[in-house]
Amino acid sequence: MSDRTIVIVGGGQAGGWAAQTLRSDGFDGRVVLIGDEPHRPYERPPLSKAVLAGDAHPDTTYLQKSEAFDALNLDWRPDVSATRIDRTAKRLHLSHGEPIHYDSLILCTGGRARRLGIPGSDLPGIFTLRSIGDAAALGAALVAGKRLLVVGGGWIGLEVAATARKKGLDVIVVEAMDRLCERTVPAEISSYLLRLHTAHGVQVELGAGIEQLAQGPGEDLTATLSDGRELACDVVLFGVGLIANDELAREAGLACEGGVLVDSQCRTSDPDILAAGDVAIWHCDWAARRMRLESWQNAQEQGIAAARAALGATVNHQPLPWFWSDQYDVNLQIFGVPTPRHQVVVRGDVGSNSFVMFFLEADRVAAALGPNAARDLRFARRLIERRTSVDPQQLADLQVPLSKL
Ligand SMILES: Cc1cc2nc3c(=O)[nH]c(=O)nc-3n(C[C@H](O)[C@H](O)[C@H](O)COP(=O)(O)OP(=O)(O)OC[C@H]3O[C@@H](n4cnc5c(N)ncnc54)[C@H](O)[C@@H]3O)c2cc1C
Repeated sequence: MSDRTIVIVGGGQAGGWAAQTLRSDGFDGRVVLIGDEPHRPYERPPLSKAVLAGDAHPDTTYLQKSEAFDALNLDWRPDVSATRIDRTAKRLHLSHGEPIHYDSLILCTGGRARRLGIPGSDLPGIFTLRSIGDAAALGAALVAGKRLLVVGGGWIGLEVAATARKKGLDVIVVEAMDRLCERTVPAEISSYLLRLHTAHGVQVELGAGIEQLAQGPGEDLTATLSDGRELACDVVLFGVGLIANDELAREAGLACEGGVLVDSQCRTSDPDILAAGDVAIWHCDWAARRMRLESWQNAQEQGIAAARAALGATVNHQPLPWFWSDQYDVNLQIFGVPTPRHQVVVRGDVGSNSFVMFFLEADRVAAALGPNAARDLRFARRLIERRTSVDPQQLADLQVPLSKL
């Protein structure tokens, strides 16, 4: 039996996959999993969708069934925070309990939802959404007939807006930029999302910052927008982005840049410390730049890669970025990282409910996305990963099956 101890901080998706991989790859030493939530590792995507809608129980989000989790034989510490890394002594200090020695440390601390620092942002009725606890609290407040104000027209805000409409709430989305999901999709998709939500009865206010929130009259909340308008609502969700939980790493002197810097081996600037998931930032070859990917796929694959690297394997974590979002009856998927410098080729009609946009670099597809186009996007992914040379006219031609390219 190995006498090594591998400690994982963060019992989310990346941490859960790291723990499982250590065991499935044969590591029989001590694995300590420190998580500051009461839950064993779980997946967050359903929290804004089926769990928030009340269609799925939070237990369905757990990565492993309880017997499978027990069989991993982890030293699991729920409700415990890692508070300090002593790199010289290779010891991790905890909110309670003795410090733990590590041979390798894997940081999977994810991120926390940002809250706007505006007057009134701590009033009752104002929520963020990151954890099972958040979903339970927000879900209880989403009662038919109430008015929800979503601050931030990004993925989480829009998914919550869709779920709230399904639950019978009136919904207003305010977005400071002049289009939805501005950071991640081209203008055509922002327009598509705007049409989608408007058609479902959501009032979308673009270019509208929020200045303050105030209580009253009664239990109502009043939001004041940057243009002076006032909106009355019962519930507010801040969907204004994520702050990486990189404090532990920063205070230990590890290189950080809005996330913990790692190489494609998932190693930080200390070779005995690795990082994975939403907290990690690394050079993504597909995007040709450093990035922090907040996605289910990356959390899983980087968690696996970090565990393997900790076991001494040579890994090269360079997955083609993949993200999806479900809103109403729409499943939108993005492969790769579209940028304005790409040539855009559209397959289908961007005014319809199903089409694909390809993003070309010379004669190669660099990225592809679209709503309700899972089958075409599977082939698009293959074109990207194989770096297949393509003819734009054929890509756009609905008579030419993508499987033939
Ligand atoms: C509501 C919601 C919907 C989403 N939907 C999608 C989707 O549709 N598609 C998609 O691709 N992605 C989606 N995502 C993103 C995806 O879920 C995340 O990218 C993924 O959860 C990241 O996993 P992680 O393990 O890096 O971080 P997390 O899952 O956040 O886990 C980190 C864990 O570490 C804990 N922690 C932090 N600091 C410490 C400490 N010092 N000590 C102990 N524990 C600590 C945290 O509390 C947390 O439990 C969604 C995310 C949310 C919140």
